[in-house]
Order: sequence, then structure tokens, then C-alpha cells
Amino acid sequence: MRTMRVLLQPIGDSNWQLMAWLAVKLPQYLPFVECQIAPKVASLPLSAITPKRQWLANVLLSHLVIPSGFDRVVGVTHVDLVIPPFNFVFGIAEINGKRAIISTARLIEHNSEITELRALKEVLHELGHTLGLAHCLNPKCVASFSNTLSDTDRKGPGFCSDCYQRLLNRWREESENTEKISRT
Ligand SMILES: [Zn+2]
Ligand SMILES: [Zn+2]
Repeated sequence: MRTMRVLLQPIGDSNWQLMAWLAVKLPQYLPFVECQIAPKVASLPLSAITPKRQWLANVLLSHLVIPSGFDRVVGVTHVDLVIPPFNFVFGIAEINGKRAIISTARLIEHNSEITELRALKEVLHELGHTLGLAHCLNPKCVASFSNTLSDTDRKGPGFCSDCYQRLLNRWREESENTEKISRT
């Protein structure tokens, strides 16, 4: 099994301190992950803005580019994300895909450590979806659904042992398949 190369892509603005912290922390919870930060901020597509000045998460997601050599890209943005009919979303991901995006807009706390920890949980949660993980019913597991910030604060940042085992199996499967493809 090879490492999963994850690119953190700032969108619209950048909080390099947060990005650097995420890049260090992610592999502590997903040891098969290796994380890099995109050197250039991606722009916000104007087609994604709504009359309420939120941004359509699925449009932003579809604009994310996965550079060669990477297995996943996770967009990190400060703008508020939405998918109608919901009022907002903390983040979204392609299930069994390669792209995910999270927003820090609703995670901000005076204490930046709390903000960072929440962002880490959202990234881990969305990466789980890209590996096919569904929402976990264990409220302590980072794969459980967050409807509110108190849900986010209650869970994780770790995966429960069942979810972690699933993630590991999925990544093993995916990395072995891509190895086969590149050899033929
Ligand atoms: Zn989810
Ligand atoms: Zn779980």
C-alpha cells in the first residue's frame, strides 16, 4: 500500500497558518496520508455566488483541479458554502471520488485552536467520504454527521475503529488498483 497524496488547496483567500497546521495534523489521524499545500490560491468562480452571498459548494467542488501525482484535493475556503435546499454546509465531498471542499466560515472562534481543530475534523470527515465512508452513528466518530457546531465539537477528530478499518481497506484497494493500471 502506498501513501495517499492529499493536496490542500486554499480557495479565494488563504490562511497559511491553518493550512500548515492541517498538513501536519492530517497524517496523525490518517497515517497513510501525506499532505501538501498548493502554493497558489485558487480563485472563486463568480458563477457560484448566490443572492444571499453564499457560494454553491458543488460548483466550487467541480472547479477543483487535481494535479498529477495527487490522489485527493481538498479545497479550504473562508466563504460560506451552501447546497440548496440546505441553509449552509460545512463541506462536501465526492463519494468515492477525489475532491472535497470545506469552509471555515462557520467554524471561526476567538480561540484559533478551536477553529483549527474544527477545520481538521471537517477535512477528515470529507476525506472519509472520498474513500466511500458513509455517516457513522457513533457520535464520537469524526465520520458522524454535523448539523451544528456542537456536533462538530462533540466528535473526533479520530475515526472509530470500524470506520478507520474501512478507510484503510478502501485505500489499500484503490492504491493496489492504481498500481496495476500504471504497470500495464
Ligand atoms: Zn458527511
Ligand atoms: Zn465511525
